[in-house]
Amino acid sequence: MHRPATEPHRSIYYRYEVHEPWLSTRHGARPRAKVVIVGSGPAGMVAALELARHGVPSVVLESELQVSLGSRAIVFTRRSMEILQQVGVADRMTEAGLPWRHGNSFYRGQRVFRMEAPHDPDDRFFPLLNVQQPYLEEYLVDACKAQPLIDFRWGNKLVAIAQHADHAVLTVDTPAGEYTLESSWVVAADGGRSPLRTMLDLKLEGASYEGFFVIADIRVDLPLPTERLAFFDPDWNPGNTVLMHREPHGIWRVDFQLPAGETPEQALQPESLKARIDASLAMVGHAGARWELDWASVYSARTLTLPHYRSGRVMFTGDAAHLLPIFGVRGANTAFQDSQSLGWHLAYVVKGLAGERLLANFSAERVGAAREIIDEAGKSTRFMTPPTRGFQLLRDAVLSLSLAHEFVRPLYHWRTSRPHEYTHSMLNATGDDDALFTAGPARGAPPRNVRLGADDFLLDHLGGGFDLLYFTTGDAIPAPLRAVVDEVRAGGVAVRTSAVGTASAEGADQCLVDADGHFRGRYGMGSRGGAYLLRPDQHVCGRWLTLDPTRLRAAFAVALPR
Ligand SMILES: Cc1cc2nc3c(=O)[nH]c(=O)nc-3n(C[C@H](O)[C@H](O)[C@H](O)COP(=O)(O)OP(=O)(O)OC[C@H]3O[C@@H](n4cnc5c(N)ncnc54)[C@H](O)[C@@H]3O)c2cc1C
Repeated sequence: MHRPATEPHRSIYYRYEVHEPWLSTRHGARPRAKVVIVGSGPAGMVAALELARHGVPSVVLESELQVSLGSRAIVFTRRSMEILQQVGVADRMTEAGLPWRHGNSFYRGQRVFRMEAPHDPDDRFFPLLNVQQPYLEEYLVDACKAQPLIDFRWGNKLVAIAQHADHAVLTVDTPAGEYTLESSWVVAADGGRSPLRTMLDLKLEGASYEGFFVIADIRVDLPLPTERLAFFDPDWNPGNTVLMHREPHGIWRVDFQLPAGETPEQALQPESLKARIDASLAMVGHAGARWELDWASVYSARTLTLPHYRSGRVMFTGDAAHLLPIFGVRGANTAFQDSQSLGWHLAYVVKGLAGERLLANFSAERVGAAREIIDEAGKSTRFMTPPTRGFQLLRDAVLSLSLAHEFVRPLYHWRTSRPHEYTHSMLNATGDDDALFTAGPARGAPPRNVRLGADDFLLDHLGGGFDLLYFTTGDAIPAPLRAVVDEVRAGGVAVRTSAVGTASAEGADQCLVDADGHFRGRYGMGSRGGAYLLRPDQHVCGRWLTLDPTRLRAAFAVALPR
């Protein structure tokens, strides 16, 4: 019998709520579910909310009775906020979080690099926002609760799976005993240790790096701005790295690398933690500051992914699909992109709007994204924790040269998580005018936000289905194009048409005024007409300087393979 912890996790700033378990004895007959999601971390809940947005119900199984322990992911990128806006929790995140855009790297006490993340007046969200993961999860839980298509089951632990040609049978353990549940599809969002991955005997591919880091969250009053602080080779931790981040509620994260040979158990001893936290505070000019520990944990860097994110009826997302180093804030930020993508791909297959080739596309796109991230993250990981003597020499050379030479300083700048461009997606329109554009988001890329008013942005108006952005100075979307849109809609596919550049246009679902031509410029349109077709995850699947019905019909056919 499954016995999840019923005592709330301890925290000095976050009040954990212990939810009631869902008990099978209290509920009646169980028809086959369309989708069961295993795990209610960020990946599982975003997948459930996205599926619901496309009209697909899901059952979410969560083995625990409360949100996750410790701050875990604390830095959320702009693209993550844009995805969270789609599932309805961006406002609460913005309210709770600390926005920032500068990072400082120090070598032996001297600042050698200052990073500035670009921030454009066209962006609704800051490049980076710090909020502790339990808050994010709480907001997602509330959004799931408010969504009638989501059947959320706390305290339900998946213990076995049997796969069949068109469904899977799941055995679920609860505080009232086991029950079985049939589902057409299963989403594995069960985290880094993914029991589903083990049950299906699937192996992650890639590398694990030696060297441990400790994360210690402390409450301390430090009058410092919200900026990332990275210290290389500081006096108190020679040859190693220390990172510091401000979190909401007066909490600071101190993240330090352990000397070679020290075990995680030794590092988490109270006296060892105290000495290093005191040394870190002294390093930022606050020796003797009073502090209180909230949570401490140890991690090491891994760059691992499954080679495919589909196994029979099971689709993988988030940490269950890949394990990425946290340098560059890649864990949860990548999970959002996976689950936003999985949501529409799976929904369209469940609803019969596309064939299962769409799921092969999800896997190819997201495995491609993970491999690109692994490649980039590998570079930062080798800089942060050099795996061989050769890498150590190289890093030490960069560090010492940086004291006197400006040109090496940008090498300190590890790239943060960014959205993948699906340049080679099989859903991209063939024969569009992408190659003729000199600006604007390319075919396969995520969209670019545009400010439309004081508190009004393009992305507030997009998503949930396909979006056709039609740039015009005329007073109508041409009837032959509308006829294609109507044909596609008649097949059950949601399409919204937006006329850009005019206050009223016949046949448009909405008009987005562009008085000064700024929108056109940002989308590479000049003064000409033209169009963009965006997929339900807002990525561009085709763009045209001249769009006719044949080209539009062909683009939809490619984007929704049978
Ligand atoms: C100690 C630690 C520190 C981290 N720090 C950072 C950081 O600083 N920055 C960053 O970007 N990322 C960080 N991460 C990673 C980040 O937390 C994850 O990338 C993110 O949570 C991934 O979300 P997920 O939904 O895929 O997995 P998880 O959040 O792990 O969610 C998986 C869920 O599945 C549930 N589950 C597991 N097995 C079963 C089962 N059999 N049946 C039902 N439910 C099950 C679990 O209870 C859990 O709720 C950290 C992770 C850890 C562990």
